[in-house]
Amino acid sequence: MAHIETDVLIIGTGPAGSATAALLSSYGIANMAINRYRWLANTPRAHITNQRTMEVLRDLGREVEDEAYLFATHQDLMGENIFCESLAGEEIGRMKSWGNHPLSKAEHLLSSPTMMNDLPQTFMEPLLFKTACSRGTQARMSTEYVSHVQDRDGVTTTCRDRLSGETVTIRSKYLVGADGGNSLVAEHAGLPFEGQMGVGGSMNILFRADLSKYVAHRPSVLYWVMQPGADVGGIGMGLVRMVRPWNEWLIVWGYDISQPAPEVTPEFATGVARQLVGDPELEIELLSANTWTVNNMYATHMQKDRVFIMGDAAHRHPPSNGLGSNTSIQDSFNLAWKLAAVLKGQAGPGLLDSYSVERAPVAKQIVTRANQSIGEFGPIFEALGMTGGTDIDKIRASMDARCDATPAAEAQREALREAIAFKKYEFDAHGVEMNQRYRSDAVVTDGQIEPAFDLDAELHYQPTTWPGARIPHVWLFDGVTGDKHSTLDLCGKGRFTLFTGIGGEAWEAAAAEVGAETGLDIRVHVIGPRRKIVDHSGDWARARDIRDSGCILVRPDQHVAWRAEAMSDQPAAELRRVLTKILAR
Ligand SMILES: Cc1cc2nc3c(=O)[nH]c(=O)nc-3n(C[C@H](O)[C@H](O)[C@H](O)COP(=O)(O)OP(=O)(O)OC[C@H]3O[C@@H](n4cnc5c(N)ncnc54)[C@H](O)[C@@H]3O)c2cc1C
Repeated sequence: MAHIETDVLIIGTGPAGSATAALLSSYGIANMAINRYRWLANTPRAHITNQRTMEVLRDLGREVEDEAYLFATHQDLMGENIFCESLAGEEIGRMKSWGNHPLSKAEHLLSSPTMMNDLPQTFMEPLLFKTACSRGTQARMSTEYVSHVQDRDGVTTTCRDRLSGETVTIRSKYLVGADGGNSLVAEHAGLPFEGQMGVGGSMNILFRADLSKYVAHRPSVLYWVMQPGADVGGIGMGLVRMVRPWNEWLIVWGYDISQPAPEVTPEFATGVARQLVGDPELEIELLSANTWTVNNMYATHMQKDRVFIMGDAAHRHPPSNGLGSNTSIQDSFNLAWKLAAVLKGQAGPGLLDSYSVERAPVAKQIVTRANQSIGEFGPIFEALGMTGGTDIDKIRASMDARCDATPAAEAQREALREAIAFKKYEFDAHGVEMNQRYRSDAVVTDGQIEPAFDLDAELHYQPTTWPGARIPHVWLFDGVTGDKHSTLDLCGKGRFTLFTGIGGEAWEAAAAEVGAETGLDIRVHVIGPRRKIVDHSGDWARARDIRDSGCILVRPDQHVAWRAEAMSDQPAAELRRVLTKILAR
């Protein structure tokens, strides 16, 4: 007999688990989240928070989005990506990063109502977790997942209460494994993976020290230290990462994965900090030190019947590109509305199959990109002459040679400039962050061809209303008050939305009719002059790819479900056909 019952049991309260709990509670679905520890993240691992993640937070509520900005370091302080011999030493090069190059900034502003920012995991997790619990999530801390069995009607999960040692069983209709990179849920569900764990070893050294004099004039999140001997296994070199400007820092330093993980004593940590900062007198307040491994592994399937995995449980990769927590939160945005629709009886269970179909390719893409980004430090090392062995004098001579007035040195300088500029694929890859287009049964294209990318799809986001893509952001205006709203504000929040224009009013009646049949509360916006929502700038007309009388049906996760070029003879029948397929009814 189960001790506890709930609709969805979530293992883990990291970014993936807490976001899922927050979304499910917002959608009115009973859920419980457990964590084997007594509290949330105690180190600021994830920090780069991209626009798509901020859109999920905005969908949870403007108060959630605003609180993130309140605690985040703003985008304009993330901007310079510095390569140097030490913070006090010579600067080797820099590049504008994270949407701070003027061209990239324009693209960011055009793409989303939200701003990229740097929000350490120690702030993101409590924000999501608080949102979840305040909206209805039952949370059980110090409770460890042990095993699960599933049957036709649900899942029975066995847990251990770590305070009392008691066994607790929880019966749920669905189980979500958001239990991180060593996921037991994924293992017990027997889900298939490709790749390799433990390809590199890294240590984190978290400390406080006022380093303003070295950094405030070139604000950045990341300072890459390249000095003879600063060899770092997993990540490529010594990294000094800003946690709070400019007095809290995280050093990432590699160790040889073929050896046991080193013990990071306070003396050792202080020595590393002094070396990378380049100040032999530096005093630090050591906050913590721990080791972790660099992984290169992803699930090729993220569902076993009633059990799902998400976040690091499904994609395990180095922090390059800052994709881990972001992708974890975006996984939850994909799954939560589907679970809600099935649990509310609006959709058939087949809808849930689209989660893995849509998100497993993303898992593969981001794991591949993050590991590739590590490799792309290679040309910088080569240009500096740091790849030819461990002879420190030889490396020093090579690094110095680039300052000579010789053709060889000029070529070396050019190679270095190009190698650093190429790192935009890690530090300014807006397309990687925003271009996710889904192909599954939860999207109906009616044979419409996917638009090709005009620019590099990893570097640039390309808006489209092609079904499967996220609805493009443009600003629209309230016809009465003049208030501006993003297209993203006009959809989401757990509901399907239909956008149409003048001459498309019959879609409104169709949405009401099909909504009544399915139990869906479909929101409709008729956009045009003298309507409730007005497209003063014409940006929507340019972005929508359909005619005034056509329509765009948007899923609760803001991805386009289907679009019609113009009014149909039988709008209700069309909408019924499409929603029957999408919802697997
Ligand atoms: C140095 C560093 C920098 C990073 N920088 C970034 C960045 O800039 N941007 C970014 O997006 N990502 C970054 N990441 C990655 C990010 O931290 C992870 O991708 C993210 O934490 C994954 O979230 P998750 O919820 O899937 O898993 P986790 O955060 O690992 O959470 C797992 C949860 O499951 C719980 N759990 C595990 N096992 C059990 C069990 N048996 N029973 C009960 N509970 C269990 C844990 O206690 C925890 O609550 C970085 C990582 C590192 C190491």
